[in-house]
Amino acid sequence: MGELRMLIDGKLVEAEGGATFDNLNPATEEVLGPVASGSAGDMARAVAAARHAFDTTQWATDGALRQKCLLQLQAAIEGEREDFRAELVSEVGCPLISTFGPQLDAPLREALTWPAAQIDEFQWSRSIGLGNPFGIGDNEREVWKEAIGVVAVIVPWNFPVEIILNKLGPALAMGNTVVLKPAPDTSWNATRIGRLIAEKTDMPRGVVNIVPSADHAVGEVLTTSPDVDLVAFTGSTATGRRIMQMSAETLKPVFLELGGKSVNLVLDDADFATTVPGSAGMCLHAGQGCAMATRLLVPKSRYDESVELAKVAFENVKYGDPTDAANFQGPQVSKVQQERVLGYIAKGREEGARVVTGGGVPKHLPRGFFVEPTVFADVDNSMTIAQEEIFGPVLCVIGYDDEADAVRIANDSAYGLSGMITSGSLERAKSVARRIRTGTLGLNGGIWYGPDAPFGGYKASGIGRQCGREGLEMFTETKTVGWPAGA
Ligand code: NAD
Repeated sequence: MGELRMLIDGKLVEAEGGATFDNLNPATEEVLGPVASGSAGDMARAVAAARHAFDTTQWATDGALRQKCLLQLQAAIEGEREDFRAELVSEVGCPLISTFGPQLDAPLREALTWPAAQIDEFQWSRSIGLGNPFGIGDNEREVWKEAIGVVAVIVPWNFPVEIILNKLGPALAMGNTVVLKPAPDTSWNATRIGRLIAEKTDMPRGVVNIVPSADHAVGEVLTTSPDVDLVAFTGSTATGRRIMQMSAETLKPVFLELGGKSVNLVLDDADFATTVPGSAGMCLHAGQGCAMATRLLVPKSRYDESVELAKVAFENVKYGDPTDAANFQGPQVSKVQQERVLGYIAKGREEGARVVTGGGVPKHLPRGFFVEPTVFADVDNSMTIAQEEIFGPVLCVIGYDDEADAVRIANDSAYGLSGMITSGSLERAKSVARRIRTGTLGLNGGIWYGPDAPFGGYKASGIGRQCGREGLEMFTETKTVGWPAGA
């Protein structure tokens, strides 16, 4: 059974009035158990606690304490690693194998420890030398980096632990206090982290508060409250836009990690037989990853051969029960998401694209929110399925005339999050990469990911970068000071 209680002001508490909602297993449609359903009042109390902790404790200035607490949290999570693993598979529906990578073990390796180490490494202040701007004498000047204050962390359901740790680690390392709102579909991993913070770390009360809720609108307390200094959000572009609008009233900075429609660009000198089948990698976790390469771009001269290679690869994707280590793909996270994906498949057919394989609900999996691994051919990049984020195991194969046309198609998107480029020449892959407007790119099968690697999007894929030095700086304010030279 997961943790029902929220964490507010250092205490594990139930929601106002004892309100709860059901956590569902998307693979079986069974209720796993209850979780507290925080109210707007609960969220306001969490904000007040974070504000009080920031304003009245040494948290922002005591780097050694922050480092100790981050490492305590790391050890506490590691101590329950296998419980996290089982819980993630049951509430997220992610395949077990994904927990050995990006769902759990990858972020657990360094998402907290890297920022903890950066507390010593980060350039907290720098001299900008002497200045005599008004001609009345020299001044020494320094630029200081400081915590922003109270950070609202709002996360989605697809890679919840990964996203929580990659926001919590840098935000806390930089000296901020936090109010975390998990997605309603996947709250137990967050409330478990809350319990570990309360029971296994020396974090002053109020430094981290965690408030799940069945009601998305409870999150608006975070965007409208004058006591929140920054909103760090990962989720859909539509919600990101709303968060930015709501934050405008109090002029809060927003840090947004949003959707994507990334390309897997196979250049004409690539090895097609080994590269194209790799496009089925996007079925991991049923295509529910913002950075997945959902548009396969191949030269028109090799189109039919590529469609066939993709078809075979998608037909070989093992999917079903996410607890079975042999499965690469589990269910969509909810009925709503399953219907959304099926709606896009219907739209693709309507607009003239051709389903080469998949295209429906698997008959042999009557329970759970499954969708077949699906390949669409004859896709024009202007079609809805090529422009909008489907968030399902659905690949669009698009033909291009030449390299310039490939770059044009890759950039003909409202999004700009990630992508892959494969070429027989790394230099050529790099030169194409410079022309693609996305925040990350994997070249020739390479992986850019890591706690030290900035991740985020161009265009409608977001504002700001998570992880890396840029990610730490997102959680800081800048203060410039000057004093008479020689004083
Ligand atoms: P979502 O936007 O529906 O919800 C995300 C979070 O925002 C949830 O916690 C939700 O309760 C909360 N929320 C909703 N309305 C709110 C409001 N008005 N004010 C405050 N909070 C509000 O997204 P989702 O369906 O949970 O996740 C899927 C989306 O997330 C996809 O679009 C995906 O691409 C994106 N995503 C992006 C990244 C990235 O780093 N770029 C990573 C993972 C997922």
